[in-house]
Amino acid sequence: MRALAVSLVFFAPLLAAQDRPLTALPYTPSLELKFLDRSADPCVDFYRFACGSWNKLNPIPPDQARWNVYSKLTNENMQYLWGLLEEYAKPTPGRTPNQQKIGDYFAACMNEAAIEKAGSEPLEADLKEIAALKDTAGLATLLGRLHFESGLGGSFLFGFGSNQDFADSEQVIAFADAGGLGLPDRDYYTKTDAKSQETRQRYVEHIARMLELLGDRPPAASTEAGTVMAIETDLAKASLTRVELRDPYNLFHKLPQADLEKLTPRFDWPRYWQAIGLAAPAVINVTEPAFYKEVEKLIETRPLADWKVYLRWHLVHSRARYLGKAFVTADFDFYSKYLRGVKEMEPRWKRCVRRVDRDLGEALGQVFVEKTFTPETKASAVAMTREIEKTMEADLHQIAWMSDATRQKALEKLHTVVNKIGYPDKWRDYSSVVIKPDDYAGDAERCDAFENRRQLDKIGKPVDRAEWGMTPPTVNAYYDPQMNDINFPAGVLEPPLYDPKMDDAPNYGNTGATIGHELTHGFDDEGRQFDAKGNLKDWWTKQDADAFVARAACVSTQYAGYTVIDDIKINSKLTLGEDVADLGGTMLAYVAWKDATKDRKLEPIDGFTPDQRFFIGMAQWACGDERAANKRLHALTDPHSPDEYRIDGVVSNMPEFAKAFSCKTGQPMVRANACRVW
Ligand SMILES: [Zn+2]
Repeated sequence: MRALAVSLVFFAPLLAAQDRPLTALPYTPSLELKFLDRSADPCVDFYRFACGSWNKLNPIPPDQARWNVYSKLTNENMQYLWGLLEEYAKPTPGRTPNQQKIGDYFAACMNEAAIEKAGSEPLEADLKEIAALKDTAGLATLLGRLHFESGLGGSFLFGFGSNQDFADSEQVIAFADAGGLGLPDRDYYTKTDAKSQETRQRYVEHIARMLELLGDRPPAASTEAGTVMAIETDLAKASLTRVELRDPYNLFHKLPQADLEKLTPRFDWPRYWQAIGLAAPAVINVTEPAFYKEVEKLIETRPLADWKVYLRWHLVHSRARYLGKAFVTADFDFYSKYLRGVKEMEPRWKRCVRRVDRDLGEALGQVFVEKTFTPETKASAVAMTREIEKTMEADLHQIAWMSDATRQKALEKLHTVVNKIGYPDKWRDYSSVVIKPDDYAGDAERCDAFENRRQLDKIGKPVDRAEWGMTPPTVNAYYDPQMNDINFPAGVLEPPLYDPKMDDAPNYGNTGATIGHELTHGFDDEGRQFDAKGNLKDWWTKQDADAFVARAACVSTQYAGYTVIDDIKINSKLTLGEDVADLGGTMLAYVAWKDATKDRKLEPIDGFTPDQRFFIGMAQWACGDERAANKRLHALTDPHSPDEYRIDGVVSNMPEFAKAFSCKTGQPMVRANACRVW
């Protein structure tokens, strides 16, 4: 759902090379001296000091746009899962039902000969329906069908699904979102600089290429691509920007169904409900009403032929990865090679492991957890999370800029945060999904239908607070403001991020700061607008809210000064929540670490004091690099600042860091007017 992004620690981890399954996860310690660049002065550029040699030892693999500690670990998890899936792909009689499903799905995905032989056949039924469309009234039925088969998420014209009610977080209601674009952000359609114009030109060429693969002749395909571009440009202009989407009030318009029909009288909603198998919902949160007015205008003004072209493009676009080589290659050439600067396509196994994780993630994750995640790791991660929360509680009691009225509410919210560590208590039941070892496109379609049904069935029901939004092997973490929970999948609680063999300093610096980061999201500029129950409700006094805004503005001004690439600066209104969480999380981890070790005498190790080890551990989660094209894409779309500023931006605000490395006032890592929010 586009509705409200949960706050991740890391954006879209991408994966890497080395072609062999792993039988065990490799061990990398959470602090590696060989990654240091000792020629760099830690007081001038701490990120370079802590991570400067990482890139030399870990160059970006040709099949990746970005390569860092998180993506490297993700890749290792995938190599390990690859080994398991190869085993389960053998049709041996002893397989459990889940093993059969994940094994057969993997086998179907790996069977390139069968996929090649099928060609564009998996699209034929839908292409026929599109061709048979007689009037725009039939659009609703067709869109419902396409949404249901290919994901409700919003590639076709708009998005539809379910989410917690902003006003009542116990209830799930229907959400109608903006969508319908093929480029990664609405700004790609509106920016006027030369690079953006070039990108649009390349995109139109890509659309034409894909339509040619469906059999359209070159001159016609080119005209058709122009039509798609024109429709998408109108949709983009009517869509909110990513910065606007960060304000939940911008997304909250709970309307009776009749009002949605008034916004779009030419769209036959009853036929749409029927097509997706949903009783007409009483209320719908229409996240962007202006977008739906534009949809209405387009249905009114665009001839039927244009809609057929638009739907054919989005059909082939959304299913390209399940088709033969020509489609997969064209899709790669534009979205990975051109937009992200990736040199080579990922090997097949890697794409297939990722598809199993996406479509049957809790079946695959269950095996991953059984084999890799020990009860001891879970217990120690739970204990560290409690330490960080205890520290935040003490911090809230001390904060001078907050009144007692707001403080009480903040404490109440902190005490209600639910800690989810490792994996869900109850696993998703995939027994109704049919998976065949020789039908990749069909398997994918049935998995999409299963997931869509699951999402739609939630409407009108109480929320399931036990549910997870990430699969267990995922190397990432998140805070969900409506659930008011912090989530750490097993995949992110492994070395080198979380390392039971290592001393506390790097563990608190690394994973402790990540836990603090997610917790702080509950109190960043977006999260603070939700109360303890996850309702969108202002619990701040005016004076305290003003004090918060002023403190956050310090961070926003700081990050706005950093360059991403060329003349592109960080859009710090987009990254504010993450920047506040990075700073707050590190502060919390530092204090929690001091508190947890206060009765011990800590000695220097390998020439670094315990405080220095804390900060090196804190920096070394972020070692990595990304390609220039990917930096441009991230500057527009990623709510996180580039890795180097996620480190230097934080430590330069911390007197504790300056003291640890004896940095002097006036040096780059000592900001004259240090920011502090929490
Ligand atoms: Zn975050």
